[in-house]
Amino acid sequence: MSEEKSRSHKAQKVIQRMGQKLNRQITGSLVACVHCGMCTDSCHYVLANPGDPTYAPAYKADRIRKLFKRHFDWTGRVFPWWVKAGSVFTDAELEELKDSVFGKCTNCRRCSLNCPMGVDFATINRMARGLLVSVGIMPEGVAAVSKDQWEIGNQMGVLKEDYLETLEWMEEELQDEMDDPEVKIPVDQTDCEVVYSINPREVKYDPRSIADAAKIFHLAGEKWTMPSEGWDMTNFGLFSGDDDLGGSVAQRLYEKVIELRGRKLVISECGHGYRSTRCEGPNWAKFDVPFEMESSVTTMLRYIKEGRIKVDKTPNTKSVTFHDSCNNARSCGLFEEPRELLRLVVDDFREMHPNRAENYCCTGGGGAMSMSEYTPQRLKSGVTKADQLKATGAEVVVTSCHNCVDGLTDVIRHYEVDMEVTQLVNLVANALVK
Ligand code: SF4
Ligand code: SF4
Repeated sequence: MSEEKSRSHKAQKVIQRMGQKLNRQITGSLVACVHCGMCTDSCHYVLANPGDPTYAPAYKADRIRKLFKRHFDWTGRVFPWWVKAGSVFTDAELEELKDSVFGKCTNCRRCSLNCPMGVDFATINRMARGLLVSVGIMPEGVAAVSKDQWEIGNQMGVLKEDYLETLEWMEEELQDEMDDPEVKIPVDQTDCEVVYSINPREVKYDPRSIADAAKIFHLAGEKWTMPSEGWDMTNFGLFSGDDDLGGSVAQRLYEKVIELRGRKLVISECGHGYRSTRCEGPNWAKFDVPFEMESSVTTMLRYIKEGRIKVDKTPNTKSVTFHDSCNNARSCGLFEEPRELLRLVVDDFREMHPNRAENYCCTGGGGAMSMSEYTPQRLKSGVTKADQLKATGAEVVVTSCHNCVDGLTDVIRHYEVDMEVTQLVNLVANALVK
């Protein structure tokens, strides 16, 4: 039997589709590795599993790289044994690859930053995820969340009526709290300066963040609105590697802002949402976005600098440290804004080490929170994060990412760290001078 005939349909499709994904960025990372090993200790999975080479970024990359060498690179056709070219033949082999690309990496890009050859392993890993997803091989959670985002329009399957009811509920709470019936959470207002998009986690588990943001917009005198639909700024396409899902989700949001004639899209605190919506979405959707996009961290800082809101540190009495979300910091360069804002609203701020682009993943990146089959190894990989947190001695860890809130909460519980988790919007709202 020829090699081609002995290959399963899924394996054939994976190889064929890999050829369509090979752009300059991916090919560069597939050919540039010299196996120097300098990226190895940058990975939190490696640090938690000493002696197990299967967690090393270069090892994980080679499992994908061998396909490229065998099928698309001339070196693999001429000297396959020399360049370690190889192929996949069975669905079982694809399932094994799934456990590596979804279960042993959070696509945090810390190894990418530490590679002297510029190899971006996370990009290769994301491509491999997308190839497997395209033939239906993925963790159950990835399939469920992707389905919700395709069909219901948001990652957590929040229905429109539940979303609108939550906004109404938060509006009433705010009116009571501020003793002002004029405080509103506007929906579908046209010609606003700001259209505010959120993470569905805020509707489901953390509606207070919506009320806190509304309070800030109100006191800043902002002309703002929330969209009734297309409001989810998160994007599971970043995690699953499905560019079609990524483009569709991003475009839904862009089109809603255009329909409302909004001048600026403000993205609430979410690392992957910010990266997907502001940086990757226009490429996935092939969409020329005609409005500005800004993280709410930048918006809050701007309001203080412009004198539109006033803050007083006194109510925020606890010591805090800051966890940089991989997507916000390493991938989008949002390091200084959250620190500048934090220093304006708290007295006792302690840096975590390492920080900024070198910070370690919360363990929940890359959609890991939705993949329950890998929870034990995810929690095991959290030991470095737990040590980082403990070393600060802070009472509170602040992060600008809903995913990180969940990842950190799990690490804190598992390693019995005495620490709360919160976000900047909560601290700023608490420090507002009315
Ligand atoms: S640091 Fe770069 S070149 Fe060295 S092993 Fe890692 S990916 Fe390869
Ligand atoms: S992207 Fe992050 S989790 Fe994945 S191999 Fe690199 S350092 Fe490890």
